[in-house]
Amino acid sequence: MPQIQTTAGPIDAERLGRTLCHEHLLSVSETVRSQYPHLHDPEREFERAIAQVRGAMGHGVRTIVDPSCMDLGRDVRFASRVAEATGIQLVVATGVYGQHYTFLPHHFQTRDEDYLADAFVHDLETGIQGTGVKAAFIKTAADEPGITPDVEKVHRAAARASLRTGAPIMAHSRPASRTGLDQMRILSEEGVAPERVMIAHTGDTDDLGHIEELLALGPFIGMDRYGTAIFLPDEQRNATVAALCERGYADRMVLSQDACATIDWFPEELVAQLAPKWSFTHLFEEILDQLRALGVGDADIDTMLDLTPRRWLAGV
Ligand SMILES: [Zn+2]
Repeated sequence: MPQIQTTAGPIDAERLGRTLCHEHLLSVSETVRSQYPHLHDPEREFERAIAQVRGAMGHGVRTIVDPSCMDLGRDVRFASRVAEATGIQLVVATGVYGQHYTFLPHHFQTRDEDYLADAFVHDLETGIQGTGVKAAFIKTAADEPGITPDVEKVHRAAARASLRTGAPIMAHSRPASRTGLDQMRILSEEGVAPERVMIAHTGDTDDLGHIEELLALGPFIGMDRYGTAIFLPDEQRNATVAALCERGYADRMVLSQDACATIDWFPEELVAQLAPKWSFTHLFEEILDQLRALGVGDADIDTMLDLTPRRWLAGV
């Protein structure tokens, strides 16, 4: 059985267990955090992360995959502290989110794809931010601005780092702009096998035609933003997941919430107002029963929460 890197070191893939494939301990504007640290409260951020993780563990979650990367305030020491305090198996990433889903910082803008791939490989093979904690996968993103030159560079670099290391890729997508198809095209052009890729946020659409077009290319898909009605209400997410389970795609889907224990992108009260149920536990508190009521069997639920994450991360 292959091994998966966690903040506490490698574990056998069969030990992953129930897995939330896309949650964030921290999503913060990293330039603000480093330049105006007084605007942040690290102890409070820590307490919030602990509470969310413990909540999920109370529902049997053994592993959380946190795709925080550059531009999302990735902080591997913070992540390791949370994992140590809770006992969660925490899987972390390397990669680039992109500034406004558009630009790389000058440092990477003026250097080529292979230079950026080297940075990713460093995190995968040596360790992140001066620690020995290794990334288990590579994060990329494309959103409303589409495939800008810098976004393309990130995807080509991610593909090359994946080919060099065997690490899988998680690509943040925007179904409304059909970015998943372009992201798959670029990764395939570089030679990445589709079953090493997860197209995150595919569940933001209920357009089954688009989703099946994407699935035909071979990636896993993230039905991973439960609780964010601003992108799509849960009722539509559930109907989509139920329809896809009926068509036999449970082994291609993961369920998650893309919840952020702390997110500084908006004033706190606005987050509470816009997404009151957005948490690491919303799936277990409401969604799974709703899916069962729509005819999704427990075997499919177990597949989406236990087996599909492992197949994406470990290839088995
Ligand atoms: Zn996310």
